[in-house]
Amino acid sequence: MTRLGQIKPEFVEFIPENLAPGVLYISKRYSTASHLCCCGCGLEVVTPLNPAKWRLIESDGAISLSPSVGSWSFPCRSHYWISGNRVQWAAVMSAERIAAVKSRDRRDVEAMAPQPQGFFARMVGAIATKIGRWFGR
Ligand SMILES: [Zn+2]
Repeated sequence: MTRLGQIKPEFVEFIPENLAPGVLYISKRYSTASHLCCCGCGLEVVTPLNPAKWRLIESDGAISLSPSVGSWSFPCRSHYWISGNRVQWAAVMSAERIAAVKSRDRRDVEAMAPQPQGFFARMVGAIATKIGRWFGR
């Protein structure tokens, strides 16, 4: 199997039944895009284009998808970014690294969670209330 390094956009009304490798089919009408997994395994990757899923960025005829495409459920477990018609492969993550990334994410979430206690939090709360009053109307 050959990993692709490039993909070209093709704007269509309907996603065709048989996809060609190396082509990202984009249906604006149905807000979706599909392509064959860039690893060459032949599985179809569907990337719905909506704020909760993927964002399509077009510039000078080149397309990018955000966020990255991670086909964790496929046997190939491909993970890559489509950026400016290029396929940028992520390094293969070992099970330990995946676990490490997950625990780091968890720590980040905990660090960002509001902790409304103590003097500083009360100060911030008081200031926010004042600002709210100033801009209230
Ligand atoms: Zn694949």
